[in-house]
Amino acid sequence: MGITDLLQQQQNFFDSNATKSVAFRIEQLKKLKGVLKSNEDLLYQAIYEDFGKSEFETYTTELAIIYHEISSYIKNTPKWSKRKNVATNLVNFPAKSYILPEPLGTTLVIGAWNYPYQLSLLPALTALAAGNTVILKPSELPKNTARVLAELINSNFPSHYFYVVEGGIEETTELLKHRFDKIFFTGSTTVGRIIYQAAANHLTPVILELGGKSPTFVLKDTNIQMTAKRIVWAKFLNAGQTCVAPDYILVDKSIEVAFLEALKVEIEKHYKASHSETPNYLKIINASNFERLMKLIDQYKLYYGGYSNKEERFISPTVLHNVSFEDEVMQDEIFGPILPVISFNDLDEAIQLVKNKPRPLSCYIYSKSNNSIKKILKEVSFGGGAVNDSLMQLTNSKLPFGGVGFSGMGAYHGKTGFDAFSHQKSILHKRFWLEPKTKYSPYTKMKLRMVKWLME
Ligand code: NAD
Repeated sequence: MGITDLLQQQQNFFDSNATKSVAFRIEQLKKLKGVLKSNEDLLYQAIYEDFGKSEFETYTTELAIIYHEISSYIKNTPKWSKRKNVATNLVNFPAKSYILPEPLGTTLVIGAWNYPYQLSLLPALTALAAGNTVILKPSELPKNTARVLAELINSNFPSHYFYVVEGGIEETTELLKHRFDKIFFTGSTTVGRIIYQAAANHLTPVILELGGKSPTFVLKDTNIQMTAKRIVWAKFLNAGQTCVAPDYILVDKSIEVAFLEALKVEIEKHYKASHSETPNYLKIINASNFERLMKLIDQYKLYYGGYSNKEERFISPTVLHNVSFEDEVMQDEIFGPILPVISFNDLDEAIQLVKNKPRPLSCYIYSKSNNSIKKILKEVSFGGGAVNDSLMQLTNSKLPFGGVGFSGMGAYHGKTGFDAFSHQKSILHKRFWLEPKTKYSPYTKMKLRMVKWLME
């Protein structure tokens, strides 16, 4: 079926009002959870074939988050889709005022490859919970996960409601020629621009979940061992292929040596120099990303790691030191297991260096000083982050997830996501029995005084 027909079918289904029923939405969410649960083995196998992701990491970083959000939407959709009464102003007395959340219509979700289940299914199921239809286009790079998503969704849901279109640039370009009621995109800032421009032709609102270089401040009063432990976990999870991973470290010069040593100790506890010795550690997604990353490892600045194997697309956890903002590794988002460490003498200068770069998706601060934490939170703009931890903010669906500036626009997770896929329809509901003459001509000075008194 062509895209025009597919979209027309979804528009017709949306117009039938079927998706406006809360009972229908809950039934579909339960069905989705059931389909995923009963096919977990297929999901594990596909992602392992794509880039060696273990069952443990697939469950904790993809499926658990999806299941949690489905349960939350099953529980909260009745409440979040309900009419909300608000106060009415004096001018409109007697009347009621209320907001009716309503679904937007047909939506397009375009996924990125690095968390191929989570980044495709989470926005898609959020759109379904809010009562929309969905066409999902997962990333084509992990081809087995894209295949399994298409098989599971397309054989269990009708195409007029929820459908997976497989493909890359060509298929996405074709999809973008059509008018959707919302486009949700996760991916690079470069492609984000293309999506935004295509959406503008149809005045389609977008949510863009993009990338960037997320800084991590390590201040002199931190707990060095715990800081290193949490950073190593967050940075090398998914082999660094995480949009919110700490991209680079800014460490206070006075603790630099101890911190570098703690990073090394922590890496050695969990990772080895070859893939066969660290089977749970992920591969780099493809050859071109492997080549790109290898070029970023400056041998003169190598502090630890740097082991690689081209055939296995393996790059061991790698730490660079004595790095400056001019180095190649500091120009673009790294998106791989390379951690540059930059030392600073003056926190104000370090903050200014971060502010000179585009606003990042995340920022992390490790410190026991409330004043320093407050200072960084106040002065540096970024999507979201954590104090004394990294990445774990994503597990709290009460925290909206999204970027700012070049790292994106709009946010989702939990109620924020539900609202992002809804329109808030505002209604003033009047009675017939009272109609003051004040707003009607002839206008008199007395009436103007009255209006001023009422309005101000
Ligand atoms: P990408 O931008 O290359 O691809 C994303 C999607 O866009 C894919 O589905 C792809 O098929 C499609 N696409 C690629 N080129 C296109 C084109 N010219 N026209 C139309 N569609 C096109 O991104 P990626 O490599 O999949 O992911 C890596 C990037 O995504 C990183 O920058 C990372 O930070 C970012 N990211 C952000 C988040 C977030 O939640 N903010 C999450 C994961 C990844």
